[in-house]
Amino acid sequence: MDDSRLVSENGLLLCIHFASQNQIQMAFDYWAGSIKDGEWVWAEQVKEIASRYGLKDSALLQKVREVATAFDVNTRCSSTSHDVPRALSCRGEFRMSRARDFICEECENQLRQQRLREEQERAIVVLCKKKTFLASLIARTTPIDYASISYADAVVVYSIMLASNLACESGRLEGNAFRLCPSDAMNESLVTQLFTKGVLAVRDDSPLDCIEVLERGIWKYEVSRINWRLAEDSRALPFSEVFQLVGEVIDQRKGHAQFDAFVRDFWWKIAVDDALYFLITEIRKFRFPEYQCGQKTEKAVRYALGCQGRSKREPLGQSKREPVVG
Ligand SMILES: [Zn+2]
Repeated sequence: MDDSRLVSENGLLLCIHFASQNQIQMAFDYWAGSIKDGEWVWAEQVKEIASRYGLKDSALLQKVREVATAFDVNTRCSSTSHDVPRALSCRGEFRMSRARDFICEECENQLRQQRLREEQERAIVVLCKKKTFLASLIARTTPIDYASISYADAVVVYSIMLASNLACESGRLEGNAFRLCPSDAMNESLVTQLFTKGVLAVRDDSPLDCIEVLERGIWKYEVSRINWRLAEDSRALPFSEVFQLVGEVIDQRKGHAQFDAFVRDFWWKIAVDDALYFLITEIRKFRFPEYQCGQKTEKAVRYALGCQGRSKREPLGQSKREPVVG
């Protein structure tokens, strides 16, 4: 501030930079004002001052800014350890009363950068957690003996391998290999079941953004966006032979102990899923609020399907037994 002068008046502090006497006077004229009846009043209109100096309003303001920097001593940076008054760029920014939430540009930038750093640090922590979680998902599946999987699992594995172009070579599965049922919910539940049983494995190229970190160490992941592969065979059979093996299991049909139970259970699942899908579609058609299917709905659907299955033989309402369909 070698070539600057400080002039303080009524809470306004002018820091005059080197300039001609005429220009300094211009800055004084612009910032001149006083308190009248408790209100701040500018001595002259900007228009009057500008015309006296033969300038447009904007040109006057520009000149004044070059000549002097005005500070509002009543308004100080609210950032701790930085008690500087607010620099004013025009009259409109001057306040009579102290503005408590003012933060100077320098501190604002520092705060912004600090927030950015904190956000980046949080993002790195979340990323690390997601990587750890993905690693735990990947490690969950160990080689299995495909000769010992259930009839139901054999059917699903065979269907998935049939629908996939990669499965027989590498065991890798494309997303569209899982289109086994009409509804996404049932497809996802089949995938989840196979993963739980150790038939499916999570691939290490699964996208991290399909994993969500919830509170208290709880995780969520989008089943449909995970990259899946079949578990390795415990006897190191190539996948082409696994395909053959599960095909042979299915071909046993009635010869397999689980065949009848599987067929009954499988058709029940498909029928219930289809009926619920139909119900939801109809409900949406009538624009009812978002409907959640609970256990009661599923029970009602199962009951309706049971009656439907037997209606040719038994009139409705006579049976008190749980419906059974073969
Ligand atoms: Zn500050």
